[in-house]
Amino acid sequence: MLKNKTAVITGSTSGIGLGYARALAAQGANIVINGFGDAAKIEAERSAIEKDFGVQCAYSAANMMNGEEIATMILNAENEFGSVDILINNAGIQHVSPVDEFPVDKWDAIIAINLSSAFHAIRAVLPGMKTRGWGRIINTASAHALVASPYKSAYVAAKHGIAGLTKTVALEVAEKGITVNAICPGYVWTPLVEAQIPDTMKARNMTEDEVKREVLLKAQPTKEFVTVDQVAALAVFLCSDAAASMTGTLLPMDGGWTAQ
Ligand code: NAD
Repeated sequence: MLKNKTAVITGSTSGIGLGYARALAAQGANIVINGFGDAAKIEAERSAIEKDFGVQCAYSAANMMNGEEIATMILNAENEFGSVDILINNAGIQHVSPVDEFPVDKWDAIIAINLSSAFHAIRAVLPGMKTRGWGRIINTASAHALVASPYKSAYVAAKHGIAGLTKTVALEVAEKGITVNAICPGYVWTPLVEAQIPDTMKARNMTEDEVKREVLLKAQPTKEFVTVDQVAALAVFLCSDAAASMTGTLLPMDGGWTAQ
C-alpha cells in the first residue's frame, strides 16, 4: 500500500514510535527512525526493519528540542529518499509534579519535545507534500489531549496544544491532498509503562495485578492496556486511501477513558 512512500517517525527507537515504524514498513514504506538510546540497539532495530520488510530504513539522531536539527532531519530524508510523504510526530516525555513545584526546565522540555517539535517538523515537510499533492501527518496526542489529570500540567498543556495544531494545519492544507490527524491513546503497554510497575508495587505494597488495575488502569474502563500494534494499525489506516476524507480529527483509542 505504501510502496515508494517515505515515512519519518519522531521518537521511534522504542515503544509506540517503533510500532509505527514497523507497521508502515510492513506496508512497503521506506522509514526514518529517530530518538535516543543505546547505539547498538538502535542499529539492531534499524537493520531489522530493512531485513524484515525489504525496505530502506535510516536513523536520525536529531534532538526534538532543537528546531534546526528537526529541519535538517527532514531535508536529509528528502535528499536520501526523494520525498517525505508521511510524518508521524510521536516523540514525547512526561514529568509528574504539582504545578507550583513544577521544575521550569522540565516544563520547557515537555513543551519543546511534545508540542513545538511537531510545529518544526510540519513546517519542514509541508512544501514537498504540497508540491506532490499528497501527504499524511499523524500526531501522537493522548487521552490527555481531551481530558486532564492532576500533576501533569506540562504534558496535558502540550497534548491539548497538539490537538489545536492538528486541527489548524488540517484546515490550512485541506485542499492539498494532505490529511492531518491526531491519535489519542489511553495507557499503552510500552517499556516505559512496564518499567514503572516494580517501584509502584513497592511504594504501595501492591501486587503487579493490583498496580495495573487500581493505579495504571484506574481511568481505563476496559481495564486492559491499549497495545502498540493497535495504535500502529490506526496509523496505517490513516495513511490509506480509505481515510482520505478524515482530517482534523482527534481519535481516542483509550478503552473508554474519555467516554466518562
Ligand atoms: P517511549 O519512551 O517508549 O518513546 C519515546 C520516544 O521518544 C523514544 O524513542 C525516545 O528516545 C524519544 N525521545 C525522547 N526525547 C527525545 C528528544 N529530545 N529527541 C528525540 N527523541 C526523543 O514512550 P511511548 O510510550 O512509546 O510514547 C510515545 C508517544 O506516545 C509520546 O508522545 C507519548 O506522550 C504518547 N503516549 C503514550 C502513552 C502510553 O501509555 N505509553 C499514552 C498516550 C500517549
